[in-house]
Amino acid sequence: MAGIVVIGGSIMGPSLAYHMAMAGHAGDLVIVEPDPSYEWAAAPRSAGGVRRMYGIPENIEMSLYGRAFYQDFASLVDVDGEPGSFAFRELGYLHLVAGAKEVAEIEHNWRIQRANGGANDILDRAALAEKFPFLNVEDIDAGLHGPSDGFVDPHAAVIGLRRKAVSLGVEYIQDRVVGLEHDDVAVRRVVLESGRVLEADTVVNVAGAWAPAICRMVGMAVPVAPLSRPTFYFETAEAVGPTPLVKDPSGVSFRTEGGGFATGLTRMDVAGEFEWEVGPREYTYFEEVVWPALAHRVPAFETLKMQRSWAGITR
Ligand SMILES: Cc1cc2nc3c(=O)[nH]c(=O)nc-3n(C[C@H](O)[C@H](O)[C@H](O)COP(=O)(O)OP(=O)(O)OC[C@H]3O[C@@H](n4cnc5c(N)ncnc54)[C@H](O)[C@@H]3O)c2cc1C
Repeated sequence: MAGIVVIGGSIMGPSLAYHMAMAGHAGDLVIVEPDPSYEWAAAPRSAGGVRRMYGIPENIEMSLYGRAFYQDFASLVDVDGEPGSFAFRELGYLHLVAGAKEVAEIEHNWRIQRANGGANDILDRAALAEKFPFLNVEDIDAGLHGPSDGFVDPHAAVIGLRRKAVSLGVEYIQDRVVGLEHDDVAVRRVVLESGRVLEADTVVNVAGAWAPAICRMVGMAVPVAPLSRPTFYFETAEAVGPTPLVKDPSGVSFRTEGGGFATGLTRMDVAGEFEWEVGPREYTYFEEVVWPALAHRVPAFETLKMQRSWAGITR
C-alpha cells in the first residue's frame, strides 16, 4: 500500500517526490505518469523563467527558495556523485512600463520585493538606455529590473528531479489514472488504465491542465481551464543581446533562447480548450501584432526570421 499517490509526473510531481524523499519519505510515495517523454506536459514547453518579480510576500518567498534551488540544481540532483546537466542562466527579468499609473505599480511591487529580500532595481529611461542599448526606450518611463532572475531548461529540470527522486527510492508507475474511489472522508483507491488499483492515504493531484478532469472523478468542479500559449522562436541577422526576459507594455515578451529568441502570447480565443495547433491564425497575429511590437522595442528585430513554433497548455 502506498501512503501517497501523486497523479502527474512532470515538474510538480517529482519536485514533491524529491522534497518528500529528502525528508526520508521516499518509500511512502508513488507517482503515476502515463508519458515518460512528457510530450504534452506544460513544463518542458514552458519558458522556464525563474523570477522574484512578484507583488505578494508569499510569492516572493517561494521564488527566493526556487531561485536558490535552481542555482544549486546540478549538485542537488546529483546521483552517485554524477551531477545533473543543468545551468541557471542569470540573464535577468525586465518589466518595462509607460505611464504614471504603471510606474506607481512597479514602484509599489519593488518596495514589497525589497522588503522581502528581492534585490531588484527601478531604472529610469536614461539608465535603461545605457544598460540595454539594443532597446528603443523613447516611449518607456521606467523598468523594474531583476538582475539575478533568469531561466532554466525546464525539460532538464523535470528529468533531473525525476532521476534524483527515483535514485532516492520513489516509484514511478507508467500508467494513467482513470478513476478514484472514495468514502465520505477521502479518496481511498486510485484506479489505473491498466486495471491496477492503488490503495492510498493521501492523493495529490498535480496533473496540470488535466487536473480538473481528475477532480471530476470525485464530482468536484474546479474553476481551472486550459489556456493555449503559442511560443515562436526566431533568429536575427544582426547580433542582439543576450537579453533578459523583457516584458513589454504591449503585452509581448521575449528572451534569449539558444542562438535566437523566444516570444509568446496567450490565446484567449480558445480558452477552455486543449488547442495545440499553431496555425494560420497565430501566424497572422504574430505578423500583425507581435512582430511590430518586437521591432518597435528592438529595432534589430525588424529583420527577424521565424524558425519554429509550438504550443503549450497552461491554466
Ligand atoms: C508557453 C508556456 C510558458 C510558461 N512559462 C513559464 C515560466 O517562464 N515560468 C514558470 O514558472 N512557469 C511557466 N509556465 C507554467 C508552467 O509550465 C506550469 O505551471 C508547470 O509546468 C505546471 O507543472 P505541472 O507538473 O503541474 O503540470 P504539467 O507539466 O502540465 O504536467 C502534468 C502531468 O500530468 C500528467 N497527467 C495528465 N493526466 C493524467 C492522468 N489521468 N493520470 C496521471 N497523470 C496524468 C501529464 O501527462 C503531465 O505529464 C509556462 C507555461 C507555458 C505553457
